[in-house]
Amino acid sequence: MAARTVLQQADITRALTRIAHEILEANKGSAGLVLLGIPTRGVELAERLAALITAFAASSDESVDGRPSPVPFGALDVTMYRDDLARHPTRSPSPTRIPAGGIDGKTVVLVDDVLFSGRTIRSALDAIADHGRPAAVRLAVLVDRGHRELPIRPDYVGKNLPSATSERINVLLTGTDGIDAVTIEDT
Ligand code: 5GP
Ligand code: MG
Repeated sequence: MAARTVLQQADITRALTRIAHEILEANKGSAGLVLLGIPTRGVELAERLAALITAFAASSDESVDGRPSPVPFGALDVTMYRDDLARHPTRSPSPTRIPAGGIDGKTVVLVDDVLFSGRTIRSALDAIADHGRPAAVRLAVLVDRGHRELPIRPDYVGKNLPSATSERINVLLTGTDGIDAVTIEDT
């Protein structure tokens, strides 16, 4: 079956814009935020969200005492922390990059493209614990496709996309794929 487009470029821009505002509201500003993306596409989403949050914080009250500093972002490689590592040995897509300043006492927002069973996020929580002790960890995803196998839920969601397990959701992002789009197809 052909892939059906569920989010176009403007929808993705709107979703990220909304999530950036939601993070700023929940965090009461951009202070203490660190965005960590899960490779591959979570890293591009984290970078884009960090830029949006930085821009919105600069245009709000925070900028009265000078410009707020850019929201730090990085990447979290969770490969070695997966509970299915023995069954599916995979190569790390990209290494962990923790921004200068670290994550101790910070509010870490994990960012991924698609949330499914929740096992990737579980392993991300283990990976985070090896790098410090954040004050809080939140979760932002572009697409929540359901089918959770663990008690994990996102704090920020671009689009809830109830899906059959046989379906595949394709997330395309400009920096990685040259185009912004989310499509769904039968496999
Ligand atoms: P989970 O660990 O929650 O089962 O799966 C989430 C991880 O697998 C995410 O890193 C996500 O990129 C990937 N993933 C799971 N299902 C899909 C899907 O339907 N489409 C895409 N693009 N990624 C998926
Ligand atoms: Mg992924």
